This record gives sequence, C-alpha cells and structure tokens, in this order.
Amino acid sequence: MRLTFLGTGTSGGVPMIACTCPVCLSTDSKDKRLRSSVMIETEGKTLIVDTGPDFRQQMLRENVMRVDGIIFTHPHKDHTGGLDDIRGYNYVLRRDIPLYLDAFTEQEIRDQYSYIFSPNPYPGIPRVHLNRIDGDTPFVAEGIPVIPIKAMHHQMPVLGFRFGDVTYITDANYIAPEEIEKIRGSRILVLNALRREQHISHFTLQQAIDLIQDIKPERAYLTHISHQLGKYDEVSNELPEGIFLAYDGLKVE
Ligand SMILES: [Zn+2]
Ligand SMILES: [Zn+2]
Ligand SMILES: [Zn+2]
Repeated sequence: MRLTFLGTGTSGGVPMIACTCPVCLSTDSKDKRLRSSVMIETEGKTLIVDTGPDFRQQMLRENVMRVDGIIFTHPHKDHTGGLDDIRGYNYVLRRDIPLYLDAFTEQEIRDQYSYIFSPNPYPGIPRVHLNRIDGDTPFVAEGIPVIPIKAMHHQMPVLGFRFGDVTYITDANYIAPEEIEKIRGSRILVLNALRREQHISHFTLQQAIDLIQDIKPERAYLTHISHQLGKYDEVSNELPEGIFLAYDGLKVE
C-alpha cells in the first residue's frame, strides 16, 4: 500500500492569499501546502480521500491516470471544492466515478453541486455514482476494505478512515474513546494539527501529539497545517521521535 499526501494545508492553503508572514514567504517547497487530501494505492486500485479545490493540480502533479473511487471525510469546501474536475476521469475511464459518503455529506454535496444531480443534466457535467456509508459500519470501496472512524470537528461529525494498518483522520478536534480503539494497532497514523494555539474545530499541535502518544503507531504524520504552525524545518526539529510533519507529495509505503 502506498499513501500519497496530495495536500497538507488547512482551508486557505499555505501560503495564504495576501499574507506576508515568514511561513507564507518561505522558499522551502515543504512550506507550500495545497488543501488536504490523500491518495491510497493498493491492490491495483487508486482511492482518493476528499477532492479539495486543488484536486486538479494534485492529479496533474502526481500524474494520476485513474481514480477508482473517492471517499469523503466531511463536506467543508476545502474537501469538496474540486469535485467538478473528476470530469477528466469520466472522459478517460468512460465511467461514473464512485463516491463514498455518509448521509450528511451527501446532502451537502447535493446542495453544493445541484447541477450534477439535476433531472435534466447539462452535457459534460461530472458523472458520479453515490455509495452511502456510515460511521459505524466497515465498508468496501472498490474492493478495498475500509473502517470508518467517527470524530468531531467542533459540532460537525467527520469521518476518518482506516485502510489496513494506515489510518487517516483530518479536521477533528475530538475522538471518542471507543473510536480511538478502532485506530489502535495502526502502523501509520495521519492526524490533523492546525497550529499551536487553541482552535474551535481542529486539534492543536500538542493535542495531536498527546493523542498519537496514547495510540503509539510506529509513525505518525501531521496534516491540515496552517501557516500559523511555523516553518516545516523549524517545527520538524522539535517533534518527538516517530512524529513528522507531512508535506505535499510525501509518499509512505
Ligand atoms: Zn478542512
Ligand atoms: Zn502567512
Ligand atoms: Zn473542515
């Protein structure tokens, strides 16, 4: 299995539009963060988790020739804003693209993309096949077994996903003890860590580290990072052993 970080930035990306802070002005490529998404490649299949506004750029950068399915964590626009660009895969693969999403995310995506679900669709719109999932039931996405993990993002429920011994959780600031049990035994854990200061809907750096040290994966990668966290090099140097800042394009086998 290969995990590719397509994007590792928070909703505004890094650099932020019109920001002149040292992180946004950094020339280190690891301080350039597109909106958060990952690609899972296993058993000849390619699954994408979330299609943020940078989806097109991410697919071009990674030269992704086929997408077998897309799984959504939650319907915030930084995770759904690139859905229109799956048209490229509709043309090439000549098939509808399977989406895996819970009832709440499905409703929000129907609102965000009403034209996709129009009874009289305009020619050339994205073509999708909806697959309903829920946070309590393991499912199979295009042949790949997935265990959903329920978390909270302030008041909004979000889903994390466990693929074998790899678990990806973004946009969380609370995970109930029984859901944490589903993560245990993962060798690789990806968790969101926005910045150092408290935030209403995201784990801080310290909260993420504390949770990782409770779960004890072999390696953990932090994602959904704000420009407020600091530069890649500087923050990386202070992280405990086995915990890393993710960066765009990072691949974990
Ligand atoms: Zn987000
Ligand atoms: Zn900045
Ligand atoms: Zn969010």
